[in-house]
Amino acid sequence: MLEVERLHKVYDGHGRSVEALRDLTFRVDAGELVCLVGPSGCGKTTLLKCVSGLLAPTSGTVTLEGRPVTGPPTGMAVVLQEYGRSLFPWLRVAANVELPLKEKKLPKSRRRDLVAQALDAVGLADAAAAYPWQLSGGMQQRVAIARAIAYEPHIMLMDEPFAAVDAQTRADLEDLIRRIWAEFSMTILFVTHDIDEAVYLGRRVVVLSSSPTVVQEDLEIDLPADRDQLTTRALPRFTELRGHVYEQIQKAKATTDV
Ligand code: ADP
Ligand code: MG
Repeated sequence: MLEVERLHKVYDGHGRSVEALRDLTFRVDAGELVCLVGPSGCGKTTLLKCVSGLLAPTSGTVTLEGRPVTGPPTGMAVVLQEYGRSLFPWLRVAANVELPLKEKKLPKSRRRDLVAQALDAVGLADAAAAYPWQLSGGMQQRVAIARAIAYEPHIMLMDEPFAAVDAQTRADLEDLIRRIWAEFSMTILFVTHDIDEAVYLGRRVVVLSSSPTVVQEDLEIDLPADRDQLTTRALPRFTELRGHVYEQIQKAKATTDV
């Protein structure tokens, strides 16, 4: 589905250059839920921008479904951290969710069905006629997720989408992602700085080092597929995996040549 090969990104400008990504190689198979975890500032957002064709890498390639990515690809949806800025305040919730579908040139009745189905999936069927600013932060983020699902992407990229919501909402949204992933058999690449979240959500966790950034480890998460906030997080294996990822990140910090 997705292949990232020897990705290297240097930001240049104003006489200063920042090497955000040194050399990243990994792949995501169709139907996988992969979490990318790494410390703040290690280049996670830069990586997602390169993968989604918003930013050109300095060198290296991104291939999606066999085609090189050179601009925003069709079949991909992106959910960003700053949902507040990604929804249009003057459009009602349903209209916000419908917006990207207009570009797909789908008939109106089909668009309506997709919007209703997506809002239903995130538990916001009742909020269709509200404005985003009338909703809580967690609800706004669910609207952003609904908009991504309605688009029927082959792959969904998420950049720390729950960083700004409270712990309870965050747990609910994590379970929502697992449910959507199973229900719509989507491929998801989920970026987070939170080790617990990565281990809880992912079927695989790719650990990034701090800058200059490389893939520190690519880890299979062999927890049961049926996950639950209480029982899964209480498993000895969960604690083991979390400890392992934590150690890897510590190790990466110790070996960086800053
Ligand atoms: P993360 O999402 O993991 O927190 P980012 O990808 O946002 O990390 O940033 C990685 C590094 O690249 C940081 O050192 C950041 O300061 C730098 N950076 C990000 N965007 C730009 C930019 N547009 N110009 C220059 N440097 C940038
Ligand atoms: Mg970021």
